[in-house]
Amino acid sequence: MTTKRDYYEVLGVGRNADEAQIKTAYRKQALQFHPDRNPGNQEAEEKFKEAAEAYEVLRDPQKRGIYDQYGHQGLEGTGFSGFGGFEDIFSSFGDIFEDFFGFGGGRRSRSRTQRGSDLRFDMTLSFMEAAFGTETEINIDKTETCATCSGSGCKPGSQPQTCNHCNGTGQMSRTQGFFTVRTSCSSCRGMGQIITQPCLECRGNGQVKVQKKVAVKIPAGVDTGSRLRLTSEGESGLHGGPSGDLYVFIHVEPHEFFERNNNDIICRIPITFIQAALGTKIKVPTLTGEKNIAVKKGTQPGDLMRLRGEGIPSLRYGNRGDLILQFIIKTPTHLSKKQELLLKDFAKLESGKLSTKLKSILRGDSASAV
Ligand SMILES: [Zn+2]
Ligand SMILES: [Zn+2]
Repeated sequence: MTTKRDYYEVLGVGRNADEAQIKTAYRKQALQFHPDRNPGNQEAEEKFKEAAEAYEVLRDPQKRGIYDQYGHQGLEGTGFSGFGGFEDIFSSFGDIFEDFFGFGGGRRSRSRTQRGSDLRFDMTLSFMEAAFGTETEINIDKTETCATCSGSGCKPGSQPQTCNHCNGTGQMSRTQGFFTVRTSCSSCRGMGQIITQPCLECRGNGQVKVQKKVAVKIPAGVDTGSRLRLTSEGESGLHGGPSGDLYVFIHVEPHEFFERNNNDIICRIPITFIQAALGTKIKVPTLTGEKNIAVKKGTQPGDLMRLRGEGIPSLRYGNRGDLILQFIIKTPTHLSKKQELLLKDFAKLESGKLSTKLKSILRGDSASAV
């Protein structure tokens, strides 16, 4: 029986490493020792398997717990015994290989077509653009199928030749113990064909880097965190594979007066305590311009008024939310002598009432205080 290395040591992480650190560490190892990059290298192969085994255990909280407590022997008790071969590894981690190699399981030869990568574009919109929607054009750097060779990578008029090394299968097989290990052919990099006369435009890649203008229609009602998908506007696929998608991530700038709460808008309206006490007619801002409203007599600080349908359109249903006005009552700070005298007179009239209320609050008689 061979002695196994410590899984944390294998991945080169500390015992307190979190899930993301473990994933990153494994990614690094898997990239370095991937069979496609190290064809026929026995040592790399072992390292690749060792890293996969360590990752399989450390990414799973249950297995990791057992390993932390009882070591390799503890895991043997659960029936976990590492991986038999590459096929095992690829089928377990298909997702992780997909995102760092751009293909599932490293088995390119099964199908040569490869979907293009998705792209991300971050877009900042003003509050109003988000509320009403907008149309714009963005510049995207991406790869596209080479027009000169239609993506074949061959100089027009020439043909790719079948790889002699693998007889066009793109794979090399080798028996190792009970398992047959398949690796990509190193001569043709798994393609099964070799380009003898590369296209001059793309130097045989079949793809070229381009900057492309993409028209984007932003629907009314988007908010920070909204994500638009533009189908097939990502990178072009390889060998006839479909294009990836372009994702536009929306960020909405705050507005000076309006604050958004889903599809409702909150706007704080300052009024004087005189206006609050006597009631008044004032103009307030709305998304579509000013509007006259009546502030009712005896308005209290924080009172709300709802203007139905004056909010943001719902992305899903199209109907608009409400504009909610919240009254902020301002106390005057620079009073003229005359105003001050008038207020003092007013206070005299009010003092009886106020002290009765205050007395009942002090008594703890909350019901009559309200
Ligand atoms: Zn080309
Ligand atoms: Zn080959």
